[in-house]
Amino acid sequence: MTIDGLKLEVEEGLTILEAAQRAGIYIPALCYHPDLPPFDSVIPSNIVYQGSFRIEGTSEGYEGCQLCLVEVEGDGIKTSCNTPVKEGMIVHTKTQEIVERRQKILAKILSKHPHACLLCPQKEGCDLKHCISNVPEDERCCSKFNNCELRKVTEYVGIGDQIPRNTLKDLPVVQDEPLFIRDYNLCIGCTRCVRVCNDVRGVGALSFTRSNGEIIVGTIAPTLKDSGCRFCGACVEVCPTGALLDKGITWAERETHLIPCKNACPAGVDVPRYIRLIAEGKFAEAIEIIREEVPFPATLGRVCPHPCEDVCRRADLDDAINIRELKRFAAEHDRGLEGELTEIAPKTGKSVAIVGSGPAGMTCGYYLSKLGHQVTIFEALPEPGGMLRYGIPDYRLPKEVIEREIEEIRKVGVNIKTNTKVESLDEIFEQGFDAIFLAMGMSKAKKLGIEGEDSPRVIDGISFLRDVKQGKMIKLGQKVAVIGGGNVAIDAARTALRLGAKDVHILYRRSRAEMPAYAEEVEQALDEGVNINFLVMPYKISKKNGKLSLECFHMELGKPDLSGRRQPIPIKDKNFSMDFDNVIVAIGQRLDIPERFDLSLSPFGTLEVDSNTFTTSRKGVFAGGDMVSGPATVIEAIAMGKRVAQAIDQYLGGQGMIEEKLIETERPDPYLGRDEGFASLKRVEVPILQAEERSSGFKEVIVGYTEEQAIEEAKRCLRCDLRLQISHPILPPEELIEFNAKNLEDVPETEGVFQLFDGKKNLIYIKGTMNLFQELNEQLRNYKKARYFMWEEDPMFSKRESELLQQFVQQHGRLPEGNSELDDLY
Ligand code: FAD
Repeated sequence: MTIDGLKLEVEEGLTILEAAQRAGIYIPALCYHPDLPPFDSVIPSNIVYQGSFRIEGTSEGYEGCQLCLVEVEGDGIKTSCNTPVKEGMIVHTKTQEIVERRQKILAKILSKHPHACLLCPQKEGCDLKHCISNVPEDERCCSKFNNCELRKVTEYVGIGDQIPRNTLKDLPVVQDEPLFIRDYNLCIGCTRCVRVCNDVRGVGALSFTRSNGEIIVGTIAPTLKDSGCRFCGACVEVCPTGALLDKGITWAERETHLIPCKNACPAGVDVPRYIRLIAEGKFAEAIEIIREEVPFPATLGRVCPHPCEDVCRRADLDDAINIRELKRFAAEHDRGLEGELTEIAPKTGKSVAIVGSGPAGMTCGYYLSKLGHQVTIFEALPEPGGMLRYGIPDYRLPKEVIEREIEEIRKVGVNIKTNTKVESLDEIFEQGFDAIFLAMGMSKAKKLGIEGEDSPRVIDGISFLRDVKQGKMIKLGQKVAVIGGGNVAIDAARTALRLGAKDVHILYRRSRAEMPAYAEEVEQALDEGVNINFLVMPYKISKKNGKLSLECFHMELGKPDLSGRRQPIPIKDKNFSMDFDNVIVAIGQRLDIPERFDLSLSPFGTLEVDSNTFTTSRKGVFAGGDMVSGPATVIEAIAMGKRVAQAIDQYLGGQGMIEEKLIETERPDPYLGRDEGFASLKRVEVPILQAEERSSGFKEVIVGYTEEQAIEEAKRCLRCDLRLQISHPILPPEELIEFNAKNLEDVPETEGVFQLFDGKKNLIYIKGTMNLFQELNEQLRNYKKARYFMWEEDPMFSKRESELLQQFVQQHGRLPEGNSELDDLY
């Protein structure tokens, strides 16, 4: 066949539109989408709802947007999206008649859609707020503006002379439903959303009807929930206008917010993928996904503060998915690192010493060892694991779990030397190590700094928990005070109860809202009988009748301090005292670093490192984990350990490539199917021991999901990641030219603006200049990353440059990388 003079050989069964696309010939279309069946695939219904509005119409079908017209020689004008190719067919896509007919069709579409901005000469770089033509706000473009497919198609087709003024439809804008905003005034009736919901996802929550000749799209019941919506977002993804938008997500933030759970995980674990595998009963595969990113899945499944759950989109509907428990469940099916999965690179001949065997040190050692380096971890304490073993109590993280995971680290060749405190870096280098990673945590407790603190019955939380974990005999009296409001304080209080104390009081100087401890731990502590006294601060400890008397202030909250929490202020004349047998102080941790290390500290008392390379003030010495971040979390320590492993490998001459692929990437089935009760599925609560059973010993409190429970919970996932599988719509071509000396010969020596693109056609630089030719030649010599370019003549090049930059910032939330040195101008 021939399209626009180009002879093509294409297989039978394709439409003209598809054949043209394969040949790189663009034909405009709005109802067509590469992943969707043709426009006539869905059967309309007689009734649809737009919010609570019920619209009764006819079930007459949809004849498509008609924009994809082409001329077939001997057969006249045809819509190319549903005309099959034929042997010897000759097609023209851009005749004068076609251009005019498309413009007329487009004018009709635009007459029902706010389009004043599309006609505006100032549209480039407009902020959509201050309108020079005083167009009323409801007639302006929506927030999608520069990213709107309708706008791009309009610019390609061109707007004819007689575009009628937009008549406002005054249709519902549904904002009070979970996750999405539906503005029916912006809908052009292309039915893409209906087709993706029905044909691709098999959900059928959306439909359309015809009323007064118009296509009216809506839900099949007044609410999304009642319509059976599964909130997968596919409809938003394929909408060519701003009629369907994600609630609370701007276009610039879109990429990071569409799969927020994965994005929030410091180690980037592919959460939706392993949750889907659990829902499918593929437990062994699920754990491999987690292992691809982190070496301590069972530990994290128990103690991770789950930042992923805090951003789970299902929470907008009811409750977040219980991601941490699902991770723990998957970890129960861990077969460990099996020979064929664990790829270890050939020996590099380089050796690395790691000081500290907490999660940061172990993770770094694990990856460095896999890269072929010889790794030795030096640990001051008798067993490896850092705070996992000597901080977090057994009732939350049994030691068998840690031991199992440490065994996996040893399996890749990491050598761990316990009972070996490192006092001097010189001595380590003298042993022949090429680099050192310091991951020593924050193992010293902060002091209260009040009178009487030195009494032997006043102990610090970190030492107390460490002694208990080491099995030392600790004698506590009946009544114990714990001072502090963080996790260490909660763990110390719950441990004190388990050691036999009858009356345990946490004294915290702020209120519950400011407590840094994890909410679920606080709940469990309260259930077990721990008392929490808020807005209380001791200022003196004295001995009285064999007891410790704590003299305290009552506090009130003032303005927020540097931590963002409201500052506690003592209330005058409201002192009181309480008597205790023991006092445990858990008000924070600090660095314990031998003086001989002679390294620079930050003003916050942490070790100072370069935030990209993790190098300290001494060459070859890197640092990470809590000692750099301050007291943080296991997942953060692991994430940093990974990054440091990359940095050290690069320092030793490697590529810093630690990516692992433990299972093949599979393409999940996009079909979800209809599930009437999906939106009402309640979070499956994880079984947990009764409070009385808990406080009598160190048995693990959380029992964990059964198989049925895990599958049930995993099936609640909204599958936000499926959206990423949806192809991008076919957009009008952008005129990018290869960036080489030959092509620069056509550029004039005049004022104008040029744009440079990298090999993947990402825009990387925008610049206005007095002399396009000279400046572009200069860039060709210096900017090696640039592979394509575009230019336009414009005497007002500075204005045009800032318009294009503003447009880019609106779309991406940042400047192009080559322009970032101008950052402070914005
Ligand atoms: P660490 O785990 O502190 O390990 C540092 C290691 O270095 C230690 O083993 C130490 O002995 C060793 N070391 C120090 N100096 C030397 C030296 N000179 N020579 C040799 N070895 C040395 N995080 C969560 O995510 N969830 C929780 O539920 C949680 N609960 C916690 C409860 C408690 C009581 C505590 C204290 C912390 C908790 N954390 C929790 C925080 C978490 O444990 C830490 O963020 C994490 O362990 C930090 O890892 P790291 O590798 O940087 O240091």
